[in-house]
Amino acid sequence: MSAGVPLLEARKLTKVYRPQEEARGETDGAAEVRALDGVTLRIHAGEYVAIVGPSGSGKSTLMQVLGLLDRPTSGELHVGGQSVARLTDDQLATLRNRSIGFIFQFFNLLARTSAIANVALPLIYARHRDPQGHARALLQKVGMGDRLFHAPHQLSGGQQQRVAIARALANSPRILFADEPTGNISTAQAAEVMAELDRLNREGVTVIVVTHEEDIARHARRTITMRDGRIVTDRVRRQGRRVREERVAVGRASALPSRDALVENLRMALTALGLNKLRTFLTTLGVLGGVGAVISMTAIGDGAKAAVKARLASLGSNLLVVQAGSGNIRGTGGAPRFTLQDVQVLKTLSQGMGYVKYVDPTVQGNVVVSAGDKNWATRVTGCQPVYEVMRASRPVTGRFFTDAEDQARARVCLIGNTIIRNLYAEGFDPTGTLIKINKTNYRVLGILPVKGGGGFRDEDDVVIVPLNTAMNRILGQTTISSIDIEASSSETIQDAINEVTDVLRRTRHIPPGKDDDFNVRNMADIQAAMEGTTQTLGLLISGIAVVSLVVGGIGIMNIMLVSVRERTKEIGLRKALGAHNLEVLFQFLVEAVLIGVFGGAAGIVIGAGVALGFSLVAGWPILLPWLTVMGAAVISALTGIVAGLWPAWQASRLSPIEALRYE
Ligand code: ADP
Ligand code: MG
Repeated sequence: MSAGVPLLEARKLTKVYRPQEEARGETDGAAEVRALDGVTLRIHAGEYVAIVGPSGSGKSTLMQVLGLLDRPTSGELHVGGQSVARLTDDQLATLRNRSIGFIFQFFNLLARTSAIANVALPLIYARHRDPQGHARALLQKVGMGDRLFHAPHQLSGGQQQRVAIARALANSPRILFADEPTGNISTAQAAEVMAELDRLNREGVTVIVVTHEEDIARHARRTITMRDGRIVTDRVRRQGRRVREERVAVGRASALPSRDALVENLRMALTALGLNKLRTFLTTLGVLGGVGAVISMTAIGDGAKAAVKARLASLGSNLLVVQAGSGNIRGTGGAPRFTLQDVQVLKTLSQGMGYVKYVDPTVQGNVVVSAGDKNWATRVTGCQPVYEVMRASRPVTGRFFTDAEDQARARVCLIGNTIIRNLYAEGFDPTGTLIKINKTNYRVLGILPVKGGGGFRDEDDVVIVPLNTAMNRILGQTTISSIDIEASSSETIQDAINEVTDVLRRTRHIPPGKDDDFNVRNMADIQAAMEGTTQTLGLLISGIAVVSLVVGGIGIMNIMLVSVRERTKEIGLRKALGAHNLEVLFQFLVEAVLIGVFGGAAGIVIGAGVALGFSLVAGWPILLPWLTVMGAAVISALTGIVAGLWPAWQASRLSPIEALRYE
């Protein structure tokens, strides 16, 4: 017998398979299988062992236990003098990765993955400096140098087995396990594979081959025969070359994936997602919707706010607007509108040195204007001459109308730029000509300065006529829609509001203690009201986004659970090759995060597109909220992480052999 520490030493190993959950009810606990029944065995470094025996005798089970893919039910196992019972899953993974190579009957290569990437896998888990380069060299050594980038389905059985051998040899293992390595390949290819194993053994690798074929067993120098989970004979035919006995390294306890591993994960995840494009797309919809809603609404809200601000600024901060009703947007609510008498009283305020500078009553309505054979539907505003200074509307050509023209209900008007564009030839100045308003001729006194679009309304799409003309000749109304008031200074706006309120309460006979039936608002109030509306809208959208993201997250979790299930065998293989629990966890986490990020990116693009379209239509400035965009990107990735954590954790906890056996 050889001296020194045996490479593998098994003492009274047993392995009992308990019946599966679903079978338990039927068999009532009877069908326990003792696949190993007290196996004691020593294998020294450099040996070439064949394990033979009838089908079901426990050969594969023994190989899995000796290869650290499965733990025995009882008994002791020492590898290189080290008891493995107390080693953690990750320590076992490292031991497999560094010291053990596996060759399986069904090759167990990763599908749709190139030969070189398959061979690189154990190198990546071993943190090899150049996994690709070394994998190439290994493949060349087994005569597969011209098939580096072929996927398994593009290779013959024998070629696949050679790739598997290259993979098994990746980290120069001390022990090579082969379970029926020639079971699925032709006789000629089997000869090549066995020649390879012979050569490796000559180079000092311990080879343990499970087989039920006499020819294959003859390659080995020692034959162990099994029956019913027991070793029945153990014969050494020839003595092999002595190999120095060494202790084996157990290695790192637990580790985060290396950069190479993350790159590999990313590639695998992209492949997996690419294979299920429609499924991936549907999974991203939730995140896409949430992110898209937030981005578009924030951008639209910001654009609207900017537009409103610009418009309010152009009106001047000292402007007050007086309207009938309590002041909600729905209208006057039955409160009496203002009369010319109300206006007259208010005007007395502006005559002294009080807080009110100007008072301008206005009415508004829709009209059709025409010149020549062209018509244009627009808005008419009736106002008093003071409008010119209050609203910065000094005509660019011609003049504003006078008080006398207002009193006389003169048929005169000023027109905005949009009307000129739509009714007249390019470059024509209609000042002094006649224009028809609702089929009646009016003289164009001048052209209003260009104000530009702001909000939903085009400020240049307007006809201005004297107040009395508008009330009596065009709109046929005796009341005033709203009264614009300019305060003397911005410091005394509140005083102006108080003054106006007092006067109006008196003229409208509102008893003390009763609420105003009109409202006086300054631009700051109006702005605040707008912002309040935007805020409410923002809250609503945030709610929708949260619900959408939760739904998206559940979708991702669901798909990841399916993905883990579909790829159980792959997980088993990765663990057999040395992947730590965390490395498996990260692999699925990376995939979940990718789905989240894809959804988020699509959401950002679509949201930005919607916002862009909206701002083009409304003529708003385009404001992409960068902070929100970055937040959305982070949130989508977080959604992926949260949703992927549970499936990924489940994947990481699978036992290597259970996963490998999974059908
Ligand atoms: P061999 O490789 O020699 O054909 P195995 O080691 O695969 O034999 O199986 C030994 C015995 O254990 C067989 O009776 C088989 O049915 C049983 N067995 C193997 N794997 C399992 C398992 N996962 N669950 C239950 N029984 C199993
Ligand atoms: Mg078997």
